[in-house]
Amino acid sequence: MAVPTLEKTLAAFDLYRMEDHFNDKQRALRDKVRSWVQTRVVPNINPYWEKAEFPREIAMSIKELPIIGGPLTEHGAPGLDIIELGLVSYELAKGDGSIGTFYGVHSGLALGTIGALGSAEQKARWMPDMVNLKKIGAFGLTEPNVGSNATGIETTARQDGDYYILNGAKRWIGNASIADLIVIWARDEDGKLGGFVLEDPQNIDGLTISDIWGKVGKRAVLNADILLENVRVHKDNRLANVRSFRDTFMVLGMGRYGVAWEAAGAAAAAFEYALDYALKREQFGKPIASFQLIQQKLVEMATEVTLMQQLCMSLARNLEKGMMSEGMVSMAKYNNARKARYVTQLAREVLGGNGILIDNHIARLWTDAEVIYTYEGTNEINMLIVGRELTGINAIV
Ligand SMILES: Cc1cc2nc3c(=O)[nH]c(=O)nc-3n(C[C@H](O)[C@H](O)[C@H](O)COP(=O)(O)OP(=O)(O)OC[C@H]3O[C@@H](n4cnc5c(N)ncnc54)[C@H](O)[C@@H]3O)c2cc1C
Repeated sequence: MAVPTLEKTLAAFDLYRMEDHFNDKQRALRDKVRSWVQTRVVPNINPYWEKAEFPREIAMSIKELPIIGGPLTEHGAPGLDIIELGLVSYELAKGDGSIGTFYGVHSGLALGTIGALGSAEQKARWMPDMVNLKKIGAFGLTEPNVGSNATGIETTARQDGDYYILNGAKRWIGNASIADLIVIWARDEDGKLGGFVLEDPQNIDGLTISDIWGKVGKRAVLNADILLENVRVHKDNRLANVRSFRDTFMVLGMGRYGVAWEAAGAAAAAFEYALDYALKREQFGKPIASFQLIQQKLVEMATEVTLMQQLCMSLARNLEKGMMSEGMVSMAKYNNARKARYVTQLAREVLGGNGILIDNHIARLWTDAEVIYTYEGTNEINMLIVGRELTGINAIV
């Protein structure tokens, strides 16, 4: 018998009926995103992933969806509600992690930072083009020597008349080599944190952006090293409302909320592929879904996906009420990222040899889960944030 091809079961897995808790507007947006993902992304993404090439045309067509700017409301941003924000991450992740990251970095981290921490003039200057995706954004916090220890950033900003002179290095910066605007985090001479918006970064003297090659996950989105050598940026480009790292962490907290949903989406997609395959693939004269050990894997996957979905829903309800603590969002991020790793691995097992072929999608979801596990705070850092909230003792430093 021929090996079955993977036609994705369109019935989305939702055993505990999250669906019933959505209103019509949320459902309509979810369906729009799902349809875009399943028609534009899923059938086309694998060759880009394999070549580690950014699918520019596909990614730019995301502007057909009313999702850029997420919860922001000014300058044409769509003002998504908390559930909608989660569902966008979930559906994008079900399609492809690289596209999800392109969106998350542009809309959540870069535009989200400008929307939350820029002055009225700065928002009017940058938001309209970013909301329309005429300009792509990037967010530069991590450095070669500073990852988890984000408050220890070494990049400096020295004032010189109307300008700041930036020196330092950034690492892993998503979208950087295609960006029109990069928010660079640096410390000024008083040790104060600043967010500096670099415009037209490809043409700035002293700024070198080099893509990082050889990634085994999220291969279709570009991440870069950035070197800043006496880069001049006008003082008007310093975000007006950054007071301390708490402001950066507020943006990252929303990022973690999105990543908790992202992890759940990646796991759900892997499970759906695995179930579809197990029902079609025959060994010993019957579908492999009829073997108890395969059913055990399917049940474990379904259970973990359900728990991830439920955690996201509860987190959303707390966030809606302004009750989401750092510990809550860190728990959801670390738990879901860890479970996404496990579920995608089980899915890959169900497919046997076919599980390692990019054509069958699961290998991409599986290796992308490795990135989800590390970014927006590693597993360890998020666990320690929960530990700090439980005990009152900071074990991170
Ligand atoms: C694909 C990708 C995209 C990214 N995109 C961006 C981006 O757009 N912008 C950006 O600014 N950053 C980005 N990042 C960076 C990401 O946020 C960092 O990789 C992450 O914060 C971890 O930092 P690190 O890799 O330097 O690891 P490290 O901080 O060096 O950690 C290494 C290990 O040590 C552990 N560890 C560290 N400190 C502690 C501690 N106190 N207790 C216990 N364990 C500890 C970590 O958990 C980890 O297991 C991206 C990363 C990746 C991989």
